[in-house]
Parts: sequence; C-alpha cells; structure tokens
Amino acid sequence: MTSLQAHSCVRSDQAHVLVHTIVEHMQEHELEPRQQGERWVLSYAGGLGSLWQEAGHIHLDITAPTLDALHDLKLILAHVVLDVTGSDDDALSWQGDGNALQRPPAFRLLRVLSIRDLTPHMRRVRFACHDLARYDQPDNIHCKLIFPQPGISEPQWPTLTSSGMPRFPEGDKRLDVRTYTIQAIDEKAGWMDVDFVVHADAGPGSAWASQATAGQTIGMSGPGGRTATPADWMLLAGDDTALPAMLRITASLPQHTRGHVFAEVQGPEDEQAVQTPPGLQWHWLHRADTEAGRSSLLQAALRSVTWPEPPASKFLWAGAEFQTAQAIRQWAKEEQGLEKHEQLIVAYWRHGQSESQFKSKAKSEPSSK
Ligand SMILES: Cc1cc2nc3c(=O)[nH]c(=O)nc-3n(C[C@H](O)[C@H](O)[C@H](O)COP(=O)(O)OP(=O)(O)OC[C@H]3O[C@@H](n4cnc5c(N)ncnc54)[C@H](O)[C@@H]3O)c2cc1C
Repeated sequence: MTSLQAHSCVRSDQAHVLVHTIVEHMQEHELEPRQQGERWVLSYAGGLGSLWQEAGHIHLDITAPTLDALHDLKLILAHVVLDVTGSDDDALSWQGDGNALQRPPAFRLLRVLSIRDLTPHMRRVRFACHDLARYDQPDNIHCKLIFPQPGISEPQWPTLTSSGMPRFPEGDKRLDVRTYTIQAIDEKAGWMDVDFVVHADAGPGSAWASQATAGQTIGMSGPGGRTATPADWMLLAGDDTALPAMLRITASLPQHTRGHVFAEVQGPEDEQAVQTPPGLQWHWLHRADTEAGRSSLLQAALRSVTWPEPPASKFLWAGAEFQTAQAIRQWAKEEQGLEKHEQLIVAYWRHGQSESQFKSKAKSEPSSK
C-alpha cells in the first residue's frame, strides 16, 4: 500500500503549553487524538497525523494512504495549529508529498445539467461532475458550493497555500461559499442533485439558483458535517432548508423505523412527495403569513410528541433557523435529557445574516453555535 508522508513545524516559545491546547481544541471538534509517549496521534481516513513539541517547536507528521487523506490531515492539523498559536498562514509550510497539488483535492467543478422547480420556493439543480466517489457517502451528505460573482465568465477557483489551506481570490473575482445538502447522487453516472430554497433577501446561493441555466459551472468542496444516526424511533424537524436532508435521511432509514417528521414550509403548495418507512409519520406544518425563521411551529410540534418507552433507541435530528435550533437544543437538553449521541441539532441559517456573517460570528462567539 502507498504511504505518503509530510512534515511541518511551527516555532513557538509556548510550544509545551500549546500542544495541550491544540489537543483540547481537537477534542472539542470531536476529533480524538490518542497519546503515545510524547506524541499525540490522530487517526483519520486511514492515515495518521502526529503532533509533539520539541525545542520550542510544534512538530507535525503525517502518513496517509491517499492524496485526499494526506491533504485532509494537513488541513485539520494546520487549521487547529494556526488557530491556537495565532500564527499567520505562512508560519506553517509542509515538506514531503502532496506539494505539487494545484487545488484542494476535494475541489470539484459542477456543470448544470438541468433545472426543475419542485415547488414555488424550491428549485432542483442537477449537476454533472467527474469523480464523485468522495461525495457519495450516506453519512456525509453536505457540501460547500462555491459561487463566482455574477457576470464573471472565467472564475479563478481556489488554489493552495503552503500550509495546505485553500486560497480564495479577492476583489472582483472573489467567490462566495454556501452550505447545501446533496439531495441525491449517482457517482457512477456522474451526477448529483441540490435543492435550493429560493428565498426572500436572496444571497449568492439563492440568487444563483434563480438564474441558473444548463451549462453554467460552479465549484464544490467538502463533504462535511454529521447526519442523523438511525435508531428504532426517530424524531426529525426542519424548515424548507432542511427538507432536502430530511427527504434523503428518511428515504434511507430501515423499514422498521418508527417516529415522526415535522417539516415546516410556507403553504400546501410547498409540500413534496415523501418516501418514509410505514411507522414514520410525516407531518407538514404551514407557517402561512409568518416570515420564514420566525414561527414556533416546530417547537410546538416537537412538544406534542409522546416519546417511546425504553429499550427503544431514539434519535432527534433538527435543522432550522438559528433561534429555532437554539430553542430545540435547549428543550432537548433540559426537558428531554437527551444524551449527546441521541441528538443532532444544527442551525441551517440565521435570520438577517448571510451565511458568512453568521459563521464568522459563531466562530468569535462559540456559545452561539
Ligand atoms: C448543513 C447545512 C445544509 C443545508 N442544506 C441546504 C439545502 O440543501 N438547500 C437550501 O436551500 N439551503 C440549505 N442550507 C441553508 C443555506 O446554507 C442557507 O439558507 C444560506 O444562507 C443560503 O445562502 P444564500 O446565499 O441564499 O443567503 P445568504 O447570503 O446566506 O443570506 C442572505 C439573507 O437571506 C436570509 N436567508 C438565508 N436563508 C434563508 C431562508 N431559507 N429563508 C429566508 N431567508 C433566508 C439570511 O438571513 C440573510 O438575511 C443548509 C445549511 C446547512 C448548515
């Protein structure tokens, strides 16, 4: 088996202390490095990333079976080390394999094949793409779509810095990045579907979907984010933005799954055909004249549910506007006492803020996630 290798180090007078902060950071992000003597070792995608301090330097070592795994480990380690040490990107430079890469290996060019309006507020775009194996994973269904500025016919796609981080063009050629769900994918046939909510106050994602025509190209990176863990009894709740994920998740659940799905849309014209196990009941909720992100229909519906008796395993999944997600998270923790492994509640968007504003705020105020 091929074994690719890379090494880097960052100077720091505080190296001995910062290694522990870096490890804590990884643990907060659900990465689980194990201690081996002086080193901390992270297993990821068949590769190993090691971290240790020596003579005022933080050292990083990677062995990986593929270029994708090598690069992903470079990114994970560089991201956390630069963040914790407060160093600039050029403080970290990798030696060894993978340095000839021009672009992040996850980057893909998507070409619009067809467009279909599923409902008045939901537009499905089918994209053609080479090499979708990385994205065709049932437990990793989200991606980042990369939009050029309107009118730019020859975009400059992201390149790589010496630390392995993506470098995005600036100015007129800047790119906008938004998070979407891969609603359906066929790696062998080379296509994938994304369902775009066409919403008021359109940002780059929604505006691009409204004008999309066959032949246009956008970029993609990822995949990322967790998804629902199948359980005997499932409770799913989400607004329009979470509908693509809920449709994909419920269609893949085993036939014995029981529970409820609450999907909030504006009105009956926004409902779609669903495919769920017979014991999983799908409920449409209509917010009518209430602005998107301002209704409490999902919270009320969740409160109305009778939970199963043990020993049935259970899982709560929710994707919604920030405040709704926060309210559901609080209810799940304080009133239902759900364990971490029994829930996944994600803020899909934030009222009055673009995704870039929302994400940079969440980074500076970790408690607001
Ligand atoms: C894991 C994940 C998966 C997602 N999957 C999907 C998906 O498959 N399809 C999808 O459409 N969205 C999805 N979203 C939500 C999507 O990323 C956001 O709605 C994003 O803000 C859309 O970008 P934009 O450029 O259209 O608007 P932005 O530039 O981000 O925001 C512009 C303005 O629009 C408002 N806004 C954003 N979304 C909405 C909305 N739905 N209704 C009303 N106002 C809104 C913002 O508050 C802001 O005021 C997902 C989000 C996450 C985190």
